[in-house]
Amino acid sequence: MSATPLPDPRTRPSDGVPDGGVPDGGVPGGVTPGTGGLVDRHGRVATDLRVSLTDRCNLRCTYCMPPEGLQWLPKVEQLTDDEVGRLVRIGVEELGIREVRFTGGEPLLRPGLVGIVAAATALAPRPEVSLTTNAIGLARVAPALAAAGLDRINVSLDTLDRERFRTLTHRDRLDDVLAGLRAARDAGLTPVKVNAVLLRGVNEDDAVPLLDFCLEHGYQLRFIEQMPLDAHHAWTRNEMVTAEDVLERLSAAHDLTADTEERGSAPAERWLVDGGPATVGVIASVTRSFCGTCDRTRLTADGQIRNCLFAREESDLRTAMREGASDAELADRWRIATLAKLPGHGIDDPSFLQPSRPMSAIGG
Ligand code: SAM
Ligand code: SF4
Repeated sequence: MSATPLPDPRTRPSDGVPDGGVPDGGVPGGVTPGTGGLVDRHGRVATDLRVSLTDRCNLRCTYCMPPEGLQWLPKVEQLTDDEVGRLVRIGVEELGIREVRFTGGEPLLRPGLVGIVAAATALAPRPEVSLTTNAIGLARVAPALAAAGLDRINVSLDTLDRERFRTLTHRDRLDDVLAGLRAARDAGLTPVKVNAVLLRGVNEDDAVPLLDFCLEHGYQLRFIEQMPLDAHHAWTRNEMVTAEDVLERLSAAHDLTADTEERGSAPAERWLVDGGPATVGVIASVTRSFCGTCDRTRLTADGQIRNCLFAREESDLRTAMREGASDAELADRWRIATLAKLPGHGIDDPSFLQPSRPMSAIGG
């Protein structure tokens, strides 16, 4: 069994954006924004919006937050459902956003989730709308989400072993997650994708069982390299399970061949399993970063625009909105925040500093 080596990320197609140049209809690096989409100084265009709906969570994944939880955002600092709807509308109508993914924290904890999804799917041009969730409670709400127009769902699941799940998440909720997965598939929220993070010495040997489980149930599995975004700053480069490690493990049980289908700005490198059509993805955020083709922009639950997961600066749309800013002014702030996006996350740079917000408060 074998896996062909990962392709060189530096030779990946730039999705229509000339190297170091300006996309069609875009804003050249350094000019004053005012119209058009979300273009940065390196010529990348953000069309994929990640919206965090809450920083709270009902699990405590060890690589994400400590067992005691975090200091949650006060309610008054959180965007209301209408404020979320307004900013998503500005993104879609004024700024060229084509995909909206709701996340968190745990987005299923947001009471207004179904209404927020319905408002997003009613926009024109209609964005693709998806959800990233730990699936606890999904069994109950999946039909309503599908009826609200949700297109797809990603579920996080790092192990199929009940005891290990409890150790990894500090909660005994594996059965709820499995029920949520089934409900998502039955509600037609397909393809259902499963995201898994492997930790050295903890769940590395879940790689093959997770793939077999996903193949059996028709879910699309993607492994994500652990990133330095944990609240307790325990991540180390030497300890993380790399994409190469994952592929080596999978290759011991399955034949993997690189999927030659155009990847565009999608972060997952995909592999056909045993000749296909089933695939497995590896998101090598750390070891094979894809910053050069990044098309993301992020809105936190408290209304801050972040141009990168690893950004150390934010743009405060909530305060501007509550002080009466017009749609045009908010759009302009968003454009300006985008211009400053750095070319890469720089994790391997000795000067790298982890952002002060953890993943759960940014929106993964
Ligand atoms: N609670 C939801 C969930 O777990 O799917 C949504 C938010 S969670 C922050 C989104 C994704 O980020 C999950 O797939 C999770 O595994 C991943 N994640 C969290 N912390 C991470 C880290 N330090 N490195 C890599 N992925 C991480
Ligand atoms: Fe919660 Fe998701 Fe973080 Fe796990 S990864 S603690 S489910 S926000």
